[in-house]
Amino acid sequence: MVLDNEEIKLSEKLQKMYQEFLIYVEQENVEFDRNESKKLELKLEEKIQWLNRYLIHLEKGGKRIQAGPDYWVQHENHKLIVEYGEDEQGNIKKDILFLWCETCSDIVSSHTKKSYENQDFEKINNHFGHEINPVRKGQNSKTICLTCNNCQKNKVFLCSDISDWFDEI
Ligand SMILES: [Zn+2]
Ligand SMILES: [Zn+2]
Repeated sequence: MVLDNEEIKLSEKLQKMYQEFLIYVEQENVEFDRNESKKLELKLEEKIQWLNRYLIHLEKGGKRIQAGPDYWVQHENHKLIVEYGEDEQGNIKKDILFLWCETCSDIVSSHTKKSYENQDFEKINNHFGHEINPVRKGQNSKTICLTCNNCQKNKVFLCSDISDWFDEI
């Protein structure tokens, strides 16, 4: 059995980061609206628990989470928006797009304009400033679609398959 040690280390680090953030949110309660603070705590606890399950999956030799759909499905029915990337100086970089989750204040996925044919990039760019929801194609479907709340045309603009192990962990 070959373990994905790189991914295990990265996930442990991520989990630690969320744990530290959770402690911060709990302690600095005063800075947030109380309900908002509680909501964020629950979201962070969810992420930490999910990472627990993911680490067990990896330690059994399971496959790595795939960029895109596996992340979208973690934000199923959440409110997402598209944002531009920034360089170290804080300059806007329009060739990098982020999907940002407003529901859990977290980056969902990033998309680079690598080539002219990068259709994901263009499809997401078309909905800049719009409200996007990741929605499954049907109940228990293994396909997740990005849908736009602001557009009538091209409402469902990007669909992709979730890893087959994803719902089992
Ligand atoms: Zn979210
Ligand atoms: Zn749109």
